Amino acid sequence: MPAEEKEAVEYEVVVVGAGIAGLACARALHQVGVRRLLLLDKHDGVRSDGAAMLLYPNGWHALEALGLADKLKGGVYPTCHLRKQTNLETGETKEMLLTGTVDRPGIGVRTVHRKVLLQALAEELPQDNVRFTSRLVSIKSEPASGKTSFNFTKLQLDDGSVIRTKVLIGCDGVHSLVAEWLGLSRAAESKRSIIRGLAEFENGHNFSNELQEYVLKDKRGAFVPVNGKEVYWYITHDTGPRDLEATRRPKRTLMQVMHNLAEGFPDRFVNVVRYSDPNTVTWTYMLYRSPWGLLLGQPHRNLITVAGDAFHPIGSDLSLGSCMALEDAVILARHISSSMRNQHDRKDAIEAYVKERRWCVAAVAAWSYMSVWTHHSWSELGFCGRAVKFLVEKVFDWFVGPRIMKTMNNDCRDLNSGGN
Ligand SMILES: Cc1cc2nc3c(=O)[nH]c(=O)nc-3n(C[C@H](O)[C@H](O)[C@H](O)COP(=O)(O)OP(=O)(O)OC[C@H]3O[C@@H](n4cnc5c(N)ncnc54)[C@H](O)[C@@H]3O)c2cc1C
Repeated sequence: MPAEEKEAVEYEVVVVGAGIAGLACARALHQVGVRRLLLLDKHDGVRSDGAAMLLYPNGWHALEALGLADKLKGGVYPTCHLRKQTNLETGETKEMLLTGTVDRPGIGVRTVHRKVLLQALAEELPQDNVRFTSRLVSIKSEPASGKTSFNFTKLQLDDGSVIRTKVLIGCDGVHSLVAEWLGLSRAAESKRSIIRGLAEFENGHNFSNELQEYVLKDKRGAFVPVNGKEVYWYITHDTGPRDLEATRRPKRTLMQVMHNLAEGFPDRFVNVVRYSDPNTVTWTYMLYRSPWGLLLGQPHRNLITVAGDAFHPIGSDLSLGSCMALEDAVILARHISSSMRNQHDRKDAIEAYVKERRWCVAAVAAWSYMSVWTHHSWSELGFCGRAVKFLVEKVFDWFVGPRIMKTMNNDCRDLNSGGN
């Protein structure tokens, strides 16, 4: 037997990546009783950069299942009930109610600090189950041997150590090694970027708890109060090579938003940007996996699968990535828990998870894809371009939009309700 195999440590489940998806998966699996569990990440700790994030009802339902919703709401983050979208070219404002489904009224949309969410997810996870500064560099499937009927997966880390696991969950983000190993299509460039930041008004602001959104040609900017003093904002736009130069210089990014990107936006938006601490500003070039890549691809093989951005990078203005990652974690853990209780094959549990998630994430990806598409500068293409844009927007409003509203209000249920 080769020397490295003797040293290999063995686990029931290994989760790669300690972002929102990985932390939520590890927490959920720990809650349903998986003990020989390892969460590993290439960084030296949980990354808390990034300002805040919008959490829709589907995210809150998942947090309820993880036992964190009440703790996070805690009166600190007010509910945002209304999304107002103003087209700055036509002056038209559309209003969309964000709270309430018939059966679960009032859960609403809240904006939370990214750091607070990550810390909450990481709490209660035993230190022995977490390993940082550990980059996964290769994955190898080991055939079933005489004693076991299932394949082990052998993981090689960058420090030379080897781990063997029955189940591997890749939560390693948009450039996922696990997704690549599974043969999923590479995430494509959307040619759009998102800049996010957090403004702080020391003496409080006067904004009501609404998501105020502005659309001007290819740009979409929005802001929403996080609490009485802080306001989260973002702006998405078509990206040229010159824009990307500023990505590592937050002060320059802020200037670029105020003096260039937000040109034509109301003063109140520019003012929110002006009050931002540059340390809260992030600039992300958006990548996505196409809806057909999600429907035709293979997000699982044997006991290996993916969750979060590794499964469904949606690169859009939707701010649904985190909510979907939380839902993945709950649904995956529920199927694994059910297979443990009923002594079913874990392979069936993973298949059931993919089956439950695939259409839902593909629908969001389709929405996202169309959303990105309609925000490119179609008007420059003349009459035909404007006609195509008009038609796509109508399909969007009548058909796709209401379905996505349903997704945003989805309740993934608790960790032990049913399953495979
Ligand atoms: C720095 C940052 C800031 C963000 N800010 C916001 C925001 O303000 N608002 C918002 O809505 N969304 C934000 N997002 C996006 C949002 O968090 C994600 O869309 C969503 O939460 C899904 O996260 P994830 O855990 O799937 O992926 P990620 O958050 O990308 O996490 C992937 C993790 O995998 C680890 N990893 C990758 N490869 C390996 C490897 N080979 N070995 C070991 N570990 C590996 C990475 O270190 C990382 O911790 C941000 C993402 C990041 C990374």
